[in-house]
Amino acid sequence: MEDYLCEAISQACSECHLDGGCCFEARPPLSQERIKILLENGVAEDAMEFAGYRRLRLKQDGFCVLFHDGKCSIHSIKPETCVAGPFTFDIKEGVLQIFLKRESICPLVRFLKANKKAYDGLFETSVEKIMHLVKSVPAAEMEEILKIEEPETDLVAQIKLQD
Ligand code: SF4
Repeated sequence: MEDYLCEAISQACSECHLDGGCCFEARPPLSQERIKILLENGVAEDAMEFAGYRRLRLKQDGFCVLFHDGKCSIHSIKPETCVAGPFTFDIKEGVLQIFLKRESICPLVRFLKANKKAYDGLFETSVEKIMHLVKSVPAAEMEEILKIEEPETDLVAQIKLQD
């Protein structure tokens, strides 16, 4: 995604009135590759846990363990689902379904809907990251990840996964 679009999206996120709402009760799944990147960049092993799938822990206040001073402390290397942000996913019968959160739970969506280039840029990046995650995580873990409910979302795309 072009730099100016990343900056515009970061700016829109920094103005979010939900104060890091997307990192509250967020337990992003981790591929082995992502764990390696996090460890190499100083993230402690005990920031991660296994609960059917490997993921980041929550702090006692309910925020992701890597949420500090009102923002993500690992922005440039954050997990795939965090990059995808308001886009989430499911897999049904070999089809990757992409959903977009509603504005009520992610104010960034209003910005994206008003800025086609930003929407298209983030959509493309999100699908790429999600595809990568789907391919990297063991099938049994992905089965657990897919059980996570994502309320208040709308289906925006369906992509046939290759066998
Ligand atoms: S890794 Fe960063 S963006 Fe993802 S939930 Fe944790 S603090 Fe938020």
